[in-house]
Amino acid sequence: MNIIIFGPPGAGKGTQSKFIVNKYKLYQLSTGDLLRNEIKNKTELGEKISSIINSGELVSDEIVNSLIEKFVSNDSYKNKIIFDGYPRNLIQAKNLDNLLKKYNQKIDVVLKLSVSLETIKKRISTRQTQEKRADDKSEVAIKRYETFEQSTKPILEYYDKQNLIKEVNGEQKIDVINKEIGDIIDLIEGWFWIITLYKYA
Ligand code: AMP
Repeated sequence: MNIIIFGPPGAGKGTQSKFIVNKYKLYQLSTGDLLRNEIKNKTELGEKISSIINSGELVSDEIVNSLIEKFVSNDSYKNKIIFDGYPRNLIQAKNLDNLLKKYNQKIDVVLKLSVSLETIKKRISTRQTQEKRADDKSEVAIKRYETFEQSTKPILEYYDKQNLIKEVNGEQKIDVINKEIGDIIDLIEGWFWIITLYKYA
């Protein structure tokens, strides 16, 4: 199963991805984490992108698309990826579909975590004290939320047409969200097995 976890910065995508990774033995592919690693390791790419990330803008599609291909093309991750923070716009969504097709895979569900700007502001200020992420400063965090809002609509329409979106209220307690997400994944897995058994019966 390949999953996209979708929501604004601070919606809890990272926390929920970790829960899914542990329970369903998937791999979390967080483009934000990969990019932050490049900055931490002071690579050539890291030097190039640090000011973009620290201002809350998006890194170029070309850069993130090439990071993604490394995972999608790797057999160890085949049909076991949870995409966290990708795709962020329609170009990336279409690129992901093409890549998955190339490697004989597809997206099974888009989990949309909905959270208000008020909640985001509160969560990000807590995270700022705990994790000290440079892009969690309040002005940058709001910029990241706005960047997200601007590119959201076309992506959601794109996946809605494919009937892939399942919305989860991200304002709830973590374990309630865990349970709702677990139920959605279990249901999809259940259908997968029914269809497989039917095919080979
Ligand atoms: P995140 O940890 O997902 O909130 O990402 C942190 C920052 O990394 C974003 O504000 C962007 O600057 C950059 N980034 C992460 N994922 C992407 C992506 N798919 N496309 C472009 N930039 C990204």
